[in-house]
Amino acid sequence: MLADVPGIHHVTAMVGDPQENLDFYVDTLGLRLVKRTVNHEDVLRYHFYYGNGAGDLGTVYTCFPYPNEPPGRRGRPQITAASFAVPEGSLDYWRDRLGARGVDAERADRFDDAVLRFEDPAGTRLELVGADQPVEPWTDGGVPADAAIRGLHGVTALPTNPFATASVLDTLGLAYEGEEGDRVRYRAGGDHATVVDLLDRGGDFAREGRGSIHHVALRVPDGTELREWHDLFRERDVEVSRIRDRHYYRAVYVREPGGILIELATEGPGFGVDEDESAFGESLVLPPWAEEDRGMIEGQLPPVEVPTGDRRS
Ligand code: ZN
Repeated sequence: MLADVPGIHHVTAMVGDPQENLDFYVDTLGLRLVKRTVNHEDVLRYHFYYGNGAGDLGTVYTCFPYPNEPPGRRGRPQITAASFAVPEGSLDYWRDRLGARGVDAERADRFDDAVLRFEDPAGTRLELVGADQPVEPWTDGGVPADAAIRGLHGVTALPTNPFATASVLDTLGLAYEGEEGDRVRYRAGGDHATVVDLLDRGGDFAREGRGSIHHVALRVPDGTELREWHDLFRERDVEVSRIRDRHYYRAVYVREPGGILIELATEGPGFGVDEDESAFGESLVLPPWAEEDRGMIEGQLPPVEVPTGDRRS
């Protein structure tokens, strides 16, 4: 019997310039750079992982910088926004902080939560949701503890067939929670990073590119359960990849019938497998099989400077 998925593991987006990306997520949002590595499918591209101090699952937001990629187009099927949880009452602070850095943010209310909507420099739609989550924040990033991000809150997806997507979420153990307008909320049973909102609306066909959210990954406890999920989806004729070793976790990718790419990722071995937590993000780490090409890889990647946190204030 497969356990219900407790929540989100990470969210991954395609972005533009790597330095601009580091500056925004570390300096402006105050997240920690948990891992500076490369795209396993294309080792001449960076892969940045951001999160809280420990890189706890459900706090992790990852970016593939593709500076020359044309901008994506929001549409169906696609994950159209990612949201982070911040303490209730901190949205005024955040609107001022973003505004001081030239980022326009718009207030909204949703399911009784206050929401601040904005875009990152690549055009990715992000949200801060005033919702308390029991997550230890990273406070060395220049954002005070009473406002610092408490991990991911969730994602908003615009499927081509919301009923099909809902059925897959139900299989994974997320429960229908309610709806507001054309937004239908599903929630996993954990205590943070649990929300998947489905939009039931029309729209253009999506095009993947700079500013697109590529996938949402959900947590599964271990490789045994990952294999069982893989087999279950295959038996149901849902498009599922073979099991991939992503060094920090093992994963399968499910293109569910509503068109959304959902990754299932194991909780271990985790980000401590190749770096001590105290040194997260300080150097470029490569998967062991790419280590012999380190010189070539480092020579091809554009140089970046990792911000030390809030260097502009
Ligand atoms: Zn992923």
